[in-house]
Amino acid sequence: MDTQTEEFSDKVKYWRDNSTLVSAKIVGRNGDQAIFKSAEVYVRHWTQKEKALRTIKSFTVWLMIAIISVFIPILHFILVPIFLLACLIFTFSAYSKSSIVVGGLGTCPYCNKPFDVASADNRWPLSDVCSSCHRHVQIEKNS
Ligand SMILES: [Zn+2]
Repeated sequence: MDTQTEEFSDKVKYWRDNSTLVSAKIVGRNGDQAIFKSAEVYVRHWTQKEKALRTIKSFTVWLMIAIISVFIPILHFILVPIFLLACLIFTFSAYSKSSIVVGGLGTCPYCNKPFDVASADNRWPLSDVCSSCHRHVQIEKNS
């Protein structure tokens, strides 16, 4: 097994151990006709404790960046307010998210090559681009 395949199977193993499997379909369009291919998508749900840790980590990192930028002459007039604003936005974002799509596997409906579902917010349907044929697809949950 080459290192790239090994790296990939390690990633899938990590998803399987730490996330919930969601049965999904990758939808492509050929004119008016829809093409469906099955996919497995992994969703990670955070516990209250993990969510709190993520929020604290985000707040601390952005606050530290803002504090460090105080020491950059002239630019600190712009950088400090920007990083403090980023601190608020990213901290709120970390607090409001309780789950995320970590990735997934499937087949591209257009080129039939393996499709690697990108990490995204857990808002369905997902939108993605095939890395082989660069066409847009939609990923929907199987009901
Ligand atoms: Zn493709």
